[in-house]
Amino acid sequence: MQKHIHEHFGKIIALFSTMIMAQAISISASAQKNSTASSFPNPKNIIIMIGDGMGFNCVKAADYFYGPMQFESFPVKVAAATYPAKVGSYDDNDTSKLKWASGYNPALAWKDSGYLHKNFTESAAAATALATGRKTYNNVIGLSVKGDTLLNLCELAKSHGKSTGIITSVPFSHATPAGFVAHNKSRSNYSEIATDMLFKSRCDLIMGCGNPEFDDNGLKLSGAWKKSRYVADSMLWLSLKSGSGEQTSFVLKDKIYEVKDVSGDKIPDPWTVITSEKDFRKLMSGKAPKRVLGIPEVYSTLQQSRVFGKNETKDSPPFITPFNPNLPSLAEMVRGGLNVLDNNPKGFFVMIEGGAIDWANHDNQKGRMLEEMKSFSDAVDTVINWVNKYSNWNETLLIVTADHECGDLWGGNTFTPLADNGKNKLPGLKFNSKNHTNALVGVYAKGKGAEMYDLMAGETDPVRGLFIQNTAIPQLIFMMWGKPVTF
Ligand SMILES: [Zn+2]
Repeated sequence: MQKHIHEHFGKIIALFSTMIMAQAISISASAQKNSTASSFPNPKNIIIMIGDGMGFNCVKAADYFYGPMQFESFPVKVAAATYPAKVGSYDDNDTSKLKWASGYNPALAWKDSGYLHKNFTESAAAATALATGRKTYNNVIGLSVKGDTLLNLCELAKSHGKSTGIITSVPFSHATPAGFVAHNKSRSNYSEIATDMLFKSRCDLIMGCGNPEFDDNGLKLSGAWKKSRYVADSMLWLSLKSGSGEQTSFVLKDKIYEVKDVSGDKIPDPWTVITSEKDFRKLMSGKAPKRVLGIPEVYSTLQQSRVFGKNETKDSPPFITPFNPNLPSLAEMVRGGLNVLDNNPKGFFVMIEGGAIDWANHDNQKGRMLEEMKSFSDAVDTVINWVNKYSNWNETLLIVTADHECGDLWGGNTFTPLADNGKNKLPGLKFNSKNHTNALVGVYAKGKGAEMYDLMAGETDPVRGLFIQNTAIPQLIFMMWGKPVTF
């Protein structure tokens, strides 16, 4: 204990001297811009990986089933509070329907099993918090409680000339990736959000599901397909594919949309559209196109939404029903995505989401949750291997976290520890909810600037230990990278 206190004290002193130094530099060279930012660690690349709905006990369950996840041994481990600013439903005509949330009280959280079932966030408010550093109201994308447009990490990174992108195992216009790219009053406006992501954003890479030509088993739909909202519009989707790599303006509902310039040469940069497993694999090595829209041939998730085989129930272990064929894994998408993003000498920002962990938790599917944990953990390992081979931990920062807990997952009733039944054996698990909770989640950081997250942890939970606010994750990046330069 004493040693830890000393260590922490030492780190605080180090932070203060950095801050004083930063101030001294900015006074002595006030003409020099960005001197404060340059005094903080300044990672070239920042990668945020979000396990959607990945509470501490999802990690623990995966740990028991597969063995420890690599990210659990990262040098910086703290917890994070995920609550939003406001809960309730947004109504243009009656804003009083939104109520201020009540934060997170560590004493009550471990006393009353019902406490965490109230005032919890959903993925849109959580993504906005993680992307902009501001807590907001539930179901909103990239706007403040007052409705102001908030600067997100993709926009910040692009203003510094970096490449930016999102990769997810659920539709690309779903709440978490949308929160890092778009701005909209409601997460449910998928078509508007997808349109913004494709034509208003300057992202270099968008990868995720939502392919309207396929079902949840990855089977091609015959006849007319109706559900095209995740890619904005069915006609637009066909034009994007036929104009892949070339076309820069598109018609959508009688309006003309032009793609943005992502490299600063004032020339609009077309999307290269890939959908087949073969093209995803090809992207993993060799020369990559400048700007990629990768939509695998499946509708809502890569694997979690596939129909249950007759031997599988919600309580089954993972891998009972064979996987959908002809699809890339999240790890393969990540490998290809990094091949697109790493062409920029100024570096990149990317948000990678294991989006369907949450979907399995909502449906209280034990085995599917474990499958999604494996998929996410493999994606993290792919990033770690990429850093080791093509970058290093002195120029890249990797943060692995969750947007919220989901399912109130325990070994039995709330607060009952999970039973470890050994490797490849389903641990003793019980979902106590079909929705999110306000429980703390984990933050695991490694690389340039990771120690900043330890320093930010100023609150203590009796069980999870030191914790930060979810908003501190981007706030520290805003400090490290400095103000937006051109926007
Ligand atoms: Zn959810």
